[in-house]
Amino acid sequence: LLIERARYHLSAHNSRQLPPDLGAEVAFAGRSNAGKSSALNALTRQNALARVSKTPGRTQQLVFFEVTPEAHLVDLPGYGYAKVPLDLQAHWQAFIDQYFRTRNALKGLVVVMDIRHPLRDYDRQMLGYAVQRGLPAHALLTKADKLGRGQQMQTLKKVRSDLHSIFGETVSVQTFSGESRQGVDEARGIIGGWLGL
Ligand code: GDP
Repeated sequence: LLIERARYHLSAHNSRQLPPDLGAEVAFAGRSNAGKSSALNALTRQNALARVSKTPGRTQQLVFFEVTPEAHLVDLPGYGYAKVPLDLQAHWQAFIDQYFRTRNALKGLVVVMDIRHPLRDYDRQMLGYAVQRGLPAHALLTKADKLGRGQQMQTLKKVRSDLHSIFGETVSVQTFSGESRQGVDEARGIIGGWLGL
């Protein structure tokens, strides 16, 4: 599978460091600790792919992974970190905002949420950025292995209905687990479609 060819490409902490705005890319967002790195690793079947995004001091960067020269995955910094100084938060907000508003290569957003704590404020904000731009978004309710089947399905239904009423039908959602690999094929199908793979 092509997505398994993903390799670290570069990190950008301001718009000048972004790679050329060409081809297709899919961005990954999520609260810190939601399970975003584990999801990226499961999707690409690479145990340490997203580790680079977690290196201390690197958390405030957009990390680009190359699948093919025309297809990239972009790891957005985990949000909800109280420790980030306010001026940095403002810088970030502006950078992410500009990235979402202007990036032509951006074809879709994946928001990773802990199935036990879905749709927090920042999740809604990121989904809003995508929807405002007319981009599709897909939510992964990860750590699904922490709940029984019945609870998973109940949460899925509730979140899907909330997402559709807030954002409309361009936002989809599924259950996922980086640990058990539940939902990996479904997510790969959506991401691969956006990337034109
Ligand atoms: P990130 O900060 O969003 O990148 O989160 P990580 O991927 O580093 O995961 C945070 C914690 O949740 C780690 O202790 C992971 O082992 C755990 N975790 C991540 N995904 C899963 C999952 O699908 N199932 C379970 N049970 N634990 C997970």
